[in-house]
Amino acid sequence: MKSISDIPPSAFTEVFLSLNRLSGEDGFAAWHFKKGMQFGETEKWWEDGGNRTHPHEGVDFCFYMTDQGIRKSLAPGIFVPPLYDGKVVSVFDDLIGRTILLQHGIFDENNLQLYSLYGHVDPLPHIAGGAEVKYSGKIAAIADRALKKRPMPSHLHISTIWLSEGFPVESFHWGMENNPDVFFSDPLHVLYQDNRWKLSL
Ligand SMILES: [Zn+2]
Repeated sequence: MKSISDIPPSAFTEVFLSLNRLSGEDGFAAWHFKKGMQFGETEKWWEDGGNRTHPHEGVDFCFYMTDQGIRKSLAPGIFVPPLYDGKVVSVFDDLIGRTILLQHGIFDENNLQLYSLYGHVDPLPHIAGGAEVKYSGKIAAIADRALKKRPMPSHLHISTIWLSEGFPVESFHWGMENNPDVFFSDPLHVLYQDNRWKLSL
């Protein structure tokens, strides 16, 4: 696990709410995670349970609680902002939609660079290798899982990944959790660092 103590908290949730106008009257109060949605958890949270093939290498965003205590789901088409300003490394297919990999120019004490990955989305047209992204902008919309007939609900997967300068990042793909040169961290560390958005379990 890499230290993130010097990294500013991500404004992801604030920007997400603003882009999707979710902070109105019956608005967002907190993210809601079922067992198996968070980093390192081993359960499947969809269908009839059981275990994943490996511990979860990120966080799945699918549900939130409103300030009236109602649980709501993220619908396909909801916009996704990046965690930080950055640059698109690559866009590739996944089981439900496409995956976007960004690099952020943020380094830890071992000179590993922070990358973030957004899975199961439809990237916006300007999102291609080399494109610059701003933390306050849209990069994608949540993909509709019905189009791929997948058993899990439409949702957004986010991973935070630390890679050395020499890592062949253009070849990054899913299934690298056992690669000794790929360090996954818990995305909630940067999302909850300022303690504003409490967990709702
Ligand atoms: Zn996931």
